[in-house]
Amino acid sequence: MTSKSGQGEAGKSDEPVKQDAVFAETDGMTDEAWRAIVGNDASFDGIFYYAVKTTGIFCRPSCKSRVPNKANVRVFQYALQALEAQFRPCKRCRPDGLRLPDEEWVMQIEQWVEEHYSETLTLGKVADLFHGSPYHLHRTFKRIKGITLAEHIQQTRIARAMMELTATNRSVMDIAVAVGIPNAAHFATVFQKKTGLTPTQYREAASAMNQKPNGGMERGAN
Ligand SMILES: [Zn+2]
Repeated sequence: MTSKSGQGEAGKSDEPVKQDAVFAETDGMTDEAWRAIVGNDASFDGIFYYAVKTTGIFCRPSCKSRVPNKANVRVFQYALQALEAQFRPCKRCRPDGLRLPDEEWVMQIEQWVEEHYSETLTLGKVADLFHGSPYHLHRTFKRIKGITLAEHIQQTRIARAMMELTATNRSVMDIAVAVGIPNAAHFATVFQKKTGLTPTQYREAASAMNQKPNGGMERGAN
């Protein structure tokens, strides 16, 4: 027996951003994505990739290759997903990142880190996924962002931890795991180095700040 109490899904948005617009619910493809493929629409390059099951090759939307049979097309958000699904990059449009400008390449890596910082990440693993050598990735990332990829990952993790410590009651250990530094002692060390406070001190300070009557939140009448 199932009991239905609530109705309607919270958080459902009717306003698709461009990226949502090309991915249908069931791993399929929207009409918009199909039009981009047929029209070789370069404005969708970097938004998605499409693979053709019969040839085993994947392309950027702008690729001038022959328009495939729609039934054989699969779309992917990242080139590496197509690679993981055993598709080979097209030699013509080079969707595997080799032709990407460095800025775009680094931006894709940043986006990927945003979604994967809770995992164990190494320079070698990220470089593998994005088809560059660790050395090239290290140098390129530093040149464009001014910090190394490792520093960027750590910043992302600590920023996330600060948010969790302030906004949630999760334990420090839980948060450490959630931000990808599952060793609590190591997490505390890294956190303190960045913020000057231990995670617990930071949480206490943040909570004291929020409770201070003259903290600027609201002004008492008396
Ligand atoms: Zn192609």
